[in-house]
Amino acid sequence: MALKAYDLTGRTAFITGAASGIGRASAVLIAEAGATVHCADVDEKGLDETRGLIADAGGIAHAHTLDVTDRAQLRAAIDSADRLDILAAVAGIMHSSTVLETRDEDLDRVLAVNFKGILYACQESARAMIAAGTPGSLITMASGAVDAANPGLLCYSVAKAAVVQLTKTLASELGPHSIRVNAIAPGWIRTPMTDRHDTALQHQAEAAMIRKSPLRRVGEPQDIAHAVLHLASDASGFTTGQILRPNGGVAMPW
Ligand code: NAD
Repeated sequence: MALKAYDLTGRTAFITGAASGIGRASAVLIAEAGATVHCADVDEKGLDETRGLIADAGGIAHAHTLDVTDRAQLRAAIDSADRLDILAAVAGIMHSSTVLETRDEDLDRVLAVNFKGILYACQESARAMIAAGTPGSLITMASGAVDAANPGLLCYSVAKAAVVQLTKTLASELGPHSIRVNAIAPGWIRTPMTDRHDTALQHQAEAAMIRKSPLRRVGEPQDIAHAVLHLASDASGFTTGQILRPNGGVAMPW
């Protein structure tokens, strides 16, 4: 009976960053919960793999190869859906440089993908929901980086802090339309983003994270997908403007 609140049958979700990591795990879980899932990403091959995983699980998926920094592409993909109930704006990139090394183009690129990409997806999704009179749930992807000082991560941390502010502002503006808006701020999750730099420093950082975690492990994409499912579903029907922190009990290790 309690699980009925997590049943998404008849709902439609739009998920960015669905070709990899957290976005892929979320797309598969949301489809398993019964929703039709529109998967968006720049990575066409990865999207095909996600679509295959959803089909294997008996779900329905549509793929949209697009760049989230292009509002027109996002709008066309969102408008192609019959209805929209859920957005999970997950696509993001990592960038490392100290404040003194940061170049204008680095800041512009990270803000474009990690902030504007989420802003555009929220704006276009909310516009579609309001026009259809559909209540909905918008889920943004922040980071544990917003809670700590992060040497070497200026651009990333600034963009994620902006996502938190966007989430709170949107929640206050969209509540009267029965649209809930919440952010997830994951801790260290093992995905291609964190595994990409297979260096001694990376391994040290991950080991330090495991030592600091009361749970003595880093996260897996599935840990965040379950947070996405919770915020997408009626189980979180009275939750809006919140930042959910699935981080194993610690903030980022830097
Ligand atoms: P990932 O690299 O596995 O996945 C990111 C996806 O975003 C990729 O499929 C990539 O192709 C897509 N993408 C990147 N730029 C895009 C663009 N311009 N348009 C469309 N798609 C684009 O990384 P992940 O770890 O799954 O990260 C997902 C989100 O979670 C990101 O926003 C990230 O900042 C956030 N996050 C991750 C961690 C972690 O430890 N992995 C921690 C906190 C927050």
